[in-house]
This record gives sequence, C-alpha cells and structure tokens, in this order.
Amino acid sequence: MPHDDNSSVSAVSALNLGGSEISDPLKDKVTRLNAQFKHHSATAVLEGALNNDDVGKLALVSSFGAESVVLLHIAAMVDRNVNVLFVDTEMLFTETLEYQLEVAERLNLTNLQVIKASQAALDAEDPDGTLHQRDTDACCSLRKTRPLQKALRGFDGWISGRKRFQAGTRAALEFFEVEDLTGRIKVNPLAHWAPADVLAYMEENRLPRHPLVAKGYPSIGCAPCTSPVKPGEDPRSGRWRGQDKTECGIHFENGKMVRKGVNA
Ligand code: SF4
Repeated sequence: MPHDDNSSVSAVSALNLGGSEISDPLKDKVTRLNAQFKHHSATAVLEGALNNDDVGKLALVSSFGAESVVLLHIAAMVDRNVNVLFVDTEMLFTETLEYQLEVAERLNLTNLQVIKASQAALDAEDPDGTLHQRDTDACCSLRKTRPLQKALRGFDGWISGRKRFQAGTRAALEFFEVEDLTGRIKVNPLAHWAPADVLAYMEENRLPRHPLVAKGYPSIGCAPCTSPVKPGEDPRSGRWRGQDKTECGIHFENGKMVRKGVNA
C-alpha cells in the first residue's frame, strides 16, 4: 500500500478500508495467536512472533524512552538483527539521542533505522518549528505518525512496548492485535507487565536508564511536550500537560487514531 510522505494516515486508512472491514481471517489469526501464547512470557511471545511465518515480517518500534530498553534487550536476546525503527521527530531531548546511541551499541542492535519526516514536509507544514505550539495533533502527524507509517510499508506488523498499566486506552491490551486502519498485526510482548516488573528486569540485567528518569521524567517524548512529574502524579501526566491528549497518534484502536485516554 504505497503512499507518499505527504499523504495523511487517514488517506492510507481509506485505501485500506475501502469501505470494508479488515478481513476476518486476520482477526481469527490474532485470536489464535493470543490463545496460543496466553500463558507465555514476553520473551516467548517475541520469539514466537519473530519466527512465525503466519505473523510475517515485523519491525520493533522504539522511542528509546524511559522503559524502552527492556523490550529492546529482550528483542536483542532473541535476534540482534531485529528491525528496529526509531522515530526522530527532531524535537527530542538531546539526552534521548545520546541514550539511543548508547543502548543501540550496548545491545549491539545491527538493524536500526532512524525515521524522520522529509525536509519537504517540514518546510511545507512546520517551517519555523512551532507547529507543536499551535496544533499538537498536526505536529505529531507530521513528525511521527506519517513517517512511521511510511517506514512500516515494508512490514506486515510491528512490535510495541505498550503495557496495560500505562493508560486507560491500553487497559485491555493483548499480546497480539489487529491494527484496524492499516491491517497490520501489532505485537505487545510486555502487555501484562507491571511497573515493578519493568524495574526489576532493568536492575537484574543492569540495563542503562534514560538519564531523564532520575530528573523526574517517568515518560519521555519530545522536549516541548514533556514535563517532569511530581511524586504521586500519573507517570504519563507530563506528556502534553494541560492538553486533552495522551497519545501521539501512532496507535490505532477501534478504527481511530488514538490521541486521548478513555478517561481523559
Ligand atoms: S510530541 Fe510535541 S513536538 Fe513531538 S511531534 Fe508531537 S506535538 Fe510535535
């Protein structure tokens, strides 16, 4: 389903949907996979997904944020050649860019692709880099969603580090799901992990922490849209603080781009 960088995800969606629902065989396949891996570990889910012709070619999408190193480490243990996509919005903290290089080297990730919006798209839609001040949804679409959708064209699905505890929109997250608007399979090996599991895994494996975590950032996105969080606050409350927006829009659920938590 080729589309150029200037096409919107909704245009992609229209192409995919064409007025019809995603085929039932795909949903049946995901149901089977969830039953098959119901009691399996994150590693088993990831290994099973990467080595399953039924799932197809996968890419791991990582923000190299506060908890990203866990999924990256598990993936590297399974296959260091796993396709890793990192979306550089060119609005990230310097610490994130440095951490990305450190983690990729430490885990010896050999197949990492840095994804960016094209210069032409930036010049046309955000020439002075202030779009995030006026319209965060448009900025996320320009700098994250569309570049990622373009990069995912060559893949049948993608692997995400999302977890149930992170937001209301993620409370029913399964290991495998169908991304309605694109018809791709999405794999969420850490879906059932609790915050304590994430921390324990990082400590047991002596994984490097994102340097901003120690400065009060438990969830890390772009610099202009991420603020520190006080003790007791929701860990994601520092993302787009003060706005009715909790997700960047790279995830689709129930036929819609997810930008708000259900409790928002
Ligand atoms: S998080 Fe903020 S700066 Fe980053 S792409 Fe979205 S709106 Fe733009």
